[in-house]
Amino acid sequence: MFEGHCDYALLPQGWRANVRLRAGADGRWVEVAADQDREGLPRLGRWVLPGMPNLHSHAFQRAMAGDAERYGHPDDSFWSWREAMYAHAGRIDPDSLHAIARWLYTEMLEAGYTRVCEFHYVHHRPGGERYAPPAAMAQALLAAADEAGIGLTLLPTLYQRGGLRDEALAPRQLRFGCGNDEFLSLCAGLAARADGARLRVGAAIHSLRAVSGASLQALLGEPFWRGRPLHIHVAEQRIEVDACLAVHGRRPIERLFDLVDVDARWCLVHATHASASELDAIARSGAVVGVCTSTEANLGDGLFDLAGLRARGGAWGIGSDSHIGLDPREELRWLEYQARLASGRRTVLGGPAHEDVAANLWLEAVHGGARACGAVVGGLRLGADADWLVLDEDDPAFAGAGPENLLGRWLFAPARWPPLAVGSAGRLRVIAGRHLAHDAHARAWRSTLARL
Ligand SMILES: [Zn+2]
Repeated sequence: MFEGHCDYALLPQGWRANVRLRAGADGRWVEVAADQDREGLPRLGRWVLPGMPNLHSHAFQRAMAGDAERYGHPDDSFWSWREAMYAHAGRIDPDSLHAIARWLYTEMLEAGYTRVCEFHYVHHRPGGERYAPPAAMAQALLAAADEAGIGLTLLPTLYQRGGLRDEALAPRQLRFGCGNDEFLSLCAGLAARADGARLRVGAAIHSLRAVSGASLQALLGEPFWRGRPLHIHVAEQRIEVDACLAVHGRRPIERLFDLVDVDARWCLVHATHASASELDAIARSGAVVGVCTSTEANLGDGLFDLAGLRARGGAWGIGSDSHIGLDPREELRWLEYQARLASGRRTVLGGPAHEDVAANLWLEAVHGGARACGAVVGGLRLGADADWLVLDEDDPAFAGAGPENLLGRWLFAPARWPPLAVGSAGRLRVIAGRHLAHDAHARAWRSTLARL
């Protein structure tokens, strides 16, 4: 059981002083109380934040991050990057996935991500033959998360066709494909191991390109999905929007809402090309939008209108997706900067009730991210996952800072200081800025990359 006392903690309502924190055996907060004496409790530090959920990850892509940054062709785009990604995916097996994911999750914890939604579609051998056991790749991810000690929301991903007109899977996509029955049994087998705090199991629909409307409706008719997180890549590229209009006469987000009852279980990843009426529908539905700022920038996806979603009361969170960036501060800073560049204003993602832009960004992303991970609530409050960060009070960057400007310095000023300590599901995983198993996990990562 974890417990401690800090000078200041960022609670859902803002900074509070002299906070006692206690986690239960189930990995959730059982006590979060401000204005308390320390009474012999361990001192955690001066500044404690809620851990950040990472709502979108493809772990295997960590091993190619930065390798596709060479000029290829004037029309180089998401679609040519996708070819490089397929070639990379073709080299991954359960052993390499385990080493890559374990190092990735170690890096995430060191950066302040305490839980991750793994959008997992590389299910089979490269030609499509099944592994024995068939869930070997998913089990590699479970082991990686368990050994790194990050909370995992595992989202086995349904991928069935090569395009909106029911094209067959291309040879390089065969290892992604599952029928509905096979998919349901894969998810049910994994869900039997879920324990609520450390591991949750939901599902992802790769995209409307990859799954037909009829198949999606048949799958979601199963009672298994009640209360489970459901994610989808929804409108990442303008070409996708045009293709969906050409085939169905509807934009992808409109089409999704036509097909299924989108509700608070849903996370719409890359709602980049949402129209005003689609933003209305998302906000009304209670779905969370998954924004992956660094990846969306890297792939040239487009600018998401986060200010528009927030004005409608919509929820959102952040994901590191292809892991071209692995720092939650970078994702949040660039969301605000995108909004500034687009509007010619400053402090766009704050507001009269949220003067501290950095604190506001952190809290909104924590709360939306927690919902996308399948938690009822997020942040430093009763019943939420007991995930936290301690900032380094001795860092010269914080000289003279108080609750009103600390996070502004941490998030917007030259950012080189990671959290000092990080805990997930009630257990400390990072001390003095380093994961407790940093060296062992880095060694296995290095030898795996040498082999790939
Ligand atoms: Zn993705």
